[in-house]
Amino acid sequence: MDIKKIYMDADALLEGHFKLSSGNHSQFYLQSAKVLEDPKVAKTLADALAKQIKESGLKVDTVCAPALGGLIAGFALATALDVRSIFAERVDGVMNIRRGFEVKEGERVLMCEDIITTGGSAMEAAHVVESLGGKIIGVAALANRGFCKRENANISTKDNCKLPQNIPFFALEDFTFEMYAPDACPLCKDGSEAIKPGSRGN
Ligand code: ZN
Repeated sequence: MDIKKIYMDADALLEGHFKLSSGNHSQFYLQSAKVLEDPKVAKTLADALAKQIKESGLKVDTVCAPALGGLIAGFALATALDVRSIFAERVDGVMNIRRGFEVKEGERVLMCEDIITTGGSAMEAAHVVESLGGKIIGVAALANRGFCKRENANISTKDNCKLPQNIPFFALEDFTFEMYAPDACPLCKDGSEAIKPGSRGN
């Protein structure tokens, strides 16, 4: 399966001059929501991710996604794995599990995101699951921005990866773009202005 082509066909791999949530600038931006707006594509991607996870022999009780970005990927993956789907959400900036979701002592929870950049949000949500007695057994994402090493891939883990090294990380593809500090950004030097993805209809 050509994941990059699927993202490009869905106009989910944007090219321009973007200001990322980290503050860095990039020529590219992944808008996974655009890929997932077609439920058939969402199912195809989730099925492929579920296949990897099943083949690894990992036993999953529940998929937990950090809202908002991970919701659709998490639900689609839970459907493909035929397990429970829950989510964590921020309340006043702090990750929480609400809405009556319960986590049992020792429940085997797989964290799921649409894209893993450093894995910060996924791990914040994972700590909430652990505080409720759950056991984090792995992390899954449709796309990997290349800072963390996923299963069966050759890139190495970078210093800013926040995922634990003792649990597996499953993703379908590595999307490794250059990122620049604003004062070292060649796109800024060329005179264009970085935009926040989502701020101009993208
Ligand atoms: Zn720039």
